[in-house]
Amino acid sequence: MLTDLNLTPQPPRHLDADVCICGAGPAGIVLALELARRRPDWRIVLLEGGGRSMPSERERVLYDVGLGTKSYAVAASRRRMLGGTSGHWGGWCKPLDPEDFTAPAAWSAPDWPITLDELQPFLAPAHVWCEIPSDRYDPDEVRARQPQRFLELPADGPVAERLFRFSPPTRFGARYADALAGQPNLDCLLHANLFALERRGDRITSVSARALDGRPVKVSAGRFVLAQGGLETTRTLLNLRGDASDDGEGLRSPHLGRHFADHYGVRPGAVLAPAELGYRRMADETTAVMPVLAPSPGALARSERQNVCLLLDPDPSADALPAGYATHAALGFPPRAFWNYRTQMIVEPRPHPDSRITLTDARCELGLRRAHLDWRIHPEDTASALAFFDDFSAVLAQTGQGRTRLTYEATPARLASANGANHHLGTVRFAHDPKDGVADPDGRLHDMENLYVASSALFPRYGYSNPTLTIVALAIRLASRWAGETREART
Ligand SMILES: Cc1cc2nc3c(=O)[nH]c(=O)nc-3n(C[C@H](O)[C@H](O)[C@H](O)COP(=O)(O)OP(=O)(O)OC[C@H]3O[C@@H](n4cnc5c(N)ncnc54)[C@H](O)[C@@H]3O)c2cc1C
Repeated sequence: MLTDLNLTPQPPRHLDADVCICGAGPAGIVLALELARRRPDWRIVLLEGGGRSMPSERERVLYDVGLGTKSYAVAASRRRMLGGTSGHWGGWCKPLDPEDFTAPAAWSAPDWPITLDELQPFLAPAHVWCEIPSDRYDPDEVRARQPQRFLELPADGPVAERLFRFSPPTRFGARYADALAGQPNLDCLLHANLFALERRGDRITSVSARALDGRPVKVSAGRFVLAQGGLETTRTLLNLRGDASDDGEGLRSPHLGRHFADHYGVRPGAVLAPAELGYRRMADETTAVMPVLAPSPGALARSERQNVCLLLDPDPSADALPAGYATHAALGFPPRAFWNYRTQMIVEPRPHPDSRITLTDARCELGLRRAHLDWRIHPEDTASALAFFDDFSAVLAQTGQGRTRLTYEATPARLASANGANHHLGTVRFAHDPKDGVADPDGRLHDMENLYVASSALFPRYGYSNPTLTIVALAIRLASRWAGETREART
């Protein structure tokens, strides 16, 4: 059932549920529906602060965040409505690379507490939820159909290829509203803003939510899941921690709010390479795909650098030509057979403990202390990315397939103006050992019996892949574990 508290004269005062989920973005919607379908004997309540249309100014202000020295387009990075930020996501999707599940020893980060093999059964149904036509990611399958779009890369070299796919993009609110409304054991309340959690010892006993002009609805449940997006989930947990110290576990973990990261781009320079390369969004059969260049697994493991990917975009402007090459057919780069490309890298950010969300003393209309975001970029990020560009340049030159020209310099001004991709990562990271993270491998806070998180805030290492596909797979995994099916996911 779907109930809008703004439109209901007599909203319920109290609901009892097996599971109460707060936040109806991709994580909350998928978890709620997966769980309700697998456990018809359970009652699920899904609380969503927004409605079915764009948030009002008054609702938007609830999300206001103070910023540290680094700029961040935080207002545009979230949407408070049914479907959450999928209301304006881009739909780029790709599972993390296998190497992204372990962190090099020198990083201050734990490995993922679940392996890719454990996540794998939930990736196929995650593609169904995100309406991606295929879950195959082998670039060689695309190469076999369109060889002219790919470079010839040495098999044991430092450069490999990977593939992205695309969701339409699915607007989870519009797409799954009917499913939420029609699910008999599920109550989805709109304009139900979570503002308080009641705690007895290490258990949450109830939460309270209300429309901005309405009276509170209290929800008692056996388990509670915060799926409010990476920033807001962290803010709720920091509010719940209150004045307690941060030298403990779970809610009192020193990691709560730290290691905030977002993916961002670096444009390293120009590339001269064979014409018609397809390392960018392109058509393959009836779908869109995006092959990219990335470090080979061996090179990544040997170097202990961050992961990164490189896109090439044809550049018709004459001044983009690497000096001296474009007009010199004698050097082996005849103009029509070789094109100039602009470059774009998506950098894997390294977890940085001082990049963090804290609370200010100001409060929003719901009475919750506001968040302050001090985003810091790890100094190793761009060095790793540029080292890969160096490797790529060497491969191009050694194989006679082109040249590059590096123009990027990691000046403080450049780093200060780097724009995030709106992925809120790392601030409630999960880890086996409570000393290394806030939550356990299911997303349960280490010191709480029944409080869980479903969000990219759980990621302890970030890779360069956009996070939503993995967020959805983790939500399906959690539903599957709770439903007692640990091996097979719904398809
Ligand atoms: C412009 C843009 C482009 C993007 N492009 C991509 C992309 O190409 N690929 C990709 O993978 N990701 C992309 N993302 C990121 C993607 O949108 C997020 O990863 C995804 O939406 C996260 O899902 P979520 O359910 O964790 O959080 P959200 O989608 O943020 O949902 C959280 C929900 O919680 C609700 N909520 C918050 N506070 C409360 C409260 N107090 N009470 C009740 N409800 C509350 C919100 O209203 C919202 O519905 C993009 C984001 C933006 C902004």
